[in-house]
Amino acid sequence: MRALSGIQPTGRFHWGNYFGAIKQYIDLQDAHDGYYFIADLHALTTVREPDVLRSYVRDAALDLLALGLNPDRATLFVQSEVPEVSQLCWLLMTGAPLGLLERCHAYKDKASKGIKADVGLFTYPILMAADILAYDSNWVPVGEDQVQHIEVCRDLARSFNAHYGEVFTMPEAKIVPGAAKVPGTDGEKMSKSYDNTLALFGDPKELRKKIMRISTDSRPMEDAKEPDGDHLFQLYQLFATREQIDDVRAIYLRGGFGYGDIKKRLADAADAYLEPARKKRQELEKNPAFVAEVLRQGASKARVSAEKVLSRAEKACGLK
Ligand code: ATP
Ligand code: MG
Repeated sequence: MRALSGIQPTGRFHWGNYFGAIKQYIDLQDAHDGYYFIADLHALTTVREPDVLRSYVRDAALDLLALGLNPDRATLFVQSEVPEVSQLCWLLMTGAPLGLLERCHAYKDKASKGIKADVGLFTYPILMAADILAYDSNWVPVGEDQVQHIEVCRDLARSFNAHYGEVFTMPEAKIVPGAAKVPGTDGEKMSKSYDNTLALFGDPKELRKKIMRISTDSRPMEDAKEPDGDHLFQLYQLFATREQIDDVRAIYLRGGFGYGDIKKRLADAADAYLEPARKKRQELEKNPAFVAEVLRQGASKARVSAEKVLSRAEKACGLK
């Protein structure tokens, strides 16, 4: 079975990216044929400075490898190095109903937040469908926000197959129930583009400061508080052991505590969890040739699959 997913180099990766998506890539890489890519074409809809984009792509590769993506098991590549995907995207566009895209919440949400929306952002689910279908993917490990886009992909594949014959493999979303929508420091979905992120890498002191600024309610300290539904507690659960979680749950229910104490516990747990990856990243940074080679080999392997699927689709619709 093939697992495939992409992640945008639109900023530094955060806890939501890791627990919602990247951790799944790593968990799936032994038992599945994993294809994971850095979605630079998607990132172009938001990152318009060439040097910034290049550095985000470089960071993305280092981060993924440092977090445990194993290039001997999984295929890691940069999206734009497989041009067949863009060609396949056009074939899918020709049959994509406008209404299907108008309903997509990534576009609707960004537009409603006043973030400039262009045609690239609007059609992003079609490029994402091409990304998935080009590799005959079975599983797509993602956060909850992408489930709707995978439905769009399935709709497009279904109608293409119905019209032209069985060309595409039908993919399915794979989400982690406890981490499908990791909240940011403001309690909303953590997103690179919403300035509410807690970073995986970077200065641990900065991270600690940001953790201390996580929004909380203003109830008196002595009040008992319901832990479930509290975003600080939800973040703590990502890093803590079962025992630590039970302890903190009891503290919430008892009352008489300050959120500062919970934040300190969260910072300690996150620090301990992230330290090995930080060390590994420092090692990888010293070896850019290795990282470049991983991406080169990944892209050439990915192209073989994408060429096959594109050729199948082109024949089916009469281009060949
Ligand atoms: P952007 O704001 O640029 O869209 P993002 O933070 O949403 O960035 P993406 O690159 O769009 O990150 O998504 C990469 C993967 O991370 C996707 O599978 C997405 O579902 C997942 N993901 C992103 N944010 C979260 C989150 N808060 N909780 C769980 N999964 C998430
Ligand atoms: Mg996103």
